[in-house]
Amino acid sequence: MRRRRVIDHREVVWLRITFHGATRQITGSAHLLEIGPYRILLDCGLFDSERIDPTSPNRQISFDPRALDAVIVSHAHNDHIGRLPCLVKAGYKGPICTTPATAAITNVMLRDSARIQREEVRNAHIKYPHIEAPEPLFDLADVEWMVEQLKRLSYGEPHEVLPGIILTYLDAGHVLGSAIVQLDFHENGRPRRFVFTGDLGRRSTHLLPDPTPVKNIDILVSESTYGNRELDSYDRLMKQLHAIVARATRLQSKIVIPAFSLGRTQRMVYCLQELYALHKVRPIPIYVDSPLALRLTEIHRDHPDAFTPQAQSLMDKDPLYFGSKYVEFCESWDDSRRLNYLNGPMVIIASSGMCEAGRIRHHLRHVVQDPDNAIVIVSFQADGTLGRRISEGVERVQIFDEWYDLNAAVYVLDGFSGHGDRNDLAWWYSQTGGGIENAFLVHGELEAMDALVPVLQPFVRNAVQTPELHGSYEV
Ligand SMILES: [Zn+2]
Repeated sequence: MRRRRVIDHREVVWLRITFHGATRQITGSAHLLEIGPYRILLDCGLFDSERIDPTSPNRQISFDPRALDAVIVSHAHNDHIGRLPCLVKAGYKGPICTTPATAAITNVMLRDSARIQREEVRNAHIKYPHIEAPEPLFDLADVEWMVEQLKRLSYGEPHEVLPGIILTYLDAGHVLGSAIVQLDFHENGRPRRFVFTGDLGRRSTHLLPDPTPVKNIDILVSESTYGNRELDSYDRLMKQLHAIVARATRLQSKIVIPAFSLGRTQRMVYCLQELYALHKVRPIPIYVDSPLALRLTEIHRDHPDAFTPQAQSLMDKDPLYFGSKYVEFCESWDDSRRLNYLNGPMVIIASSGMCEAGRIRHHLRHVVQDPDNAIVIVSFQADGTLGRRISEGVERVQIFDEWYDLNAAVYVLDGFSGHGDRNDLAWWYSQTGGGIENAFLVHGELEAMDALVPVLQPFVRNAVQTPELHGSYEV
């Protein structure tokens, strides 16, 4: 155990930040903060890379986990939590701070990840029996140890995470439990405030509150996913969704929506039910084909206070709001396969969100060639993914080992994303009141960052930085 020192307000305390992931791309979030004698890790996410590939960046932790004093998690998407058990496996024994909802989701997500890795290793062993079987990144026991170290902190509750360093979580409005990380401490008797946005949500989405404004920031690390995009307004998106549902009803066809099990799935279920309840759209069945999404939806029902008053009033009328009589969750493979033989109209929501894995690929295979069907893209699609190719409207797509004509109608409604666009980010920056000393952009492709720098720069005294992997800055 490292020796704990109280930060003496008279000594020179510096802050160093090193970016170990989500640099000029959107996965692998992990930022190491050194404040005086303390080492704090912000997030420990998965890179978008095969987990069991021995050369994967997921297998290299470029700092010593045993030397960390605290870990602070922004939210429970896998690109922010996916490697937390690796820290524990490598000997980290300190606290892992999260909001209560993030703790519950993290528990479910990482158990699921351990299960998938076990299957991946088993499959690799069957496919390549002559090659030594790779090890999973972590197993269930590592997840269970990690869960023991979770420290749950509510929004707005200041907590002295280390002597002299006060952590406050603020609602980021991105997914259930998502938080902006605010750290307050003194340097030479002078108050200093460090803020990490995590992933910032959109404004006015009806489901989750707007991201919380923060003032008096000295050092800012901001996400930038949609820094170069202006997304459609919620009202316009709902009109488009209405038209797509009406088309499916007319043609008796299927709508397939690839969606992450956490966040996007619940948002789309909510939006469809809002159409049915408030806009008097003729309901069609919604099938959510993901056992993981079912467990995560139950956690959503456990946190009614997390939602906007409008969403709460709809939920009051129907306590199963994320799963009313129009919604059916498919748990088993048989439930999933049954959907192939049912006639439309219907909506099928399945993961993964970028169509690279999971049950969504089976549904795409069945719907993709019929022009009456529709595929609705509702989230960010990284370069090189099947979801990106579909959203670009290519003529043919490869699903598993076969090629298919892409005849189904493709609609890109990525305004349903959990990420704020350029205007949302500009609004949040304007709420800081300016005077930020140093700012860094992470969690975005370089074009998005380049477009966002001039938006953020007026609020920052020094040049806004777009760090490279392992880039380190003393501020
Ligand atoms: Zn996220």
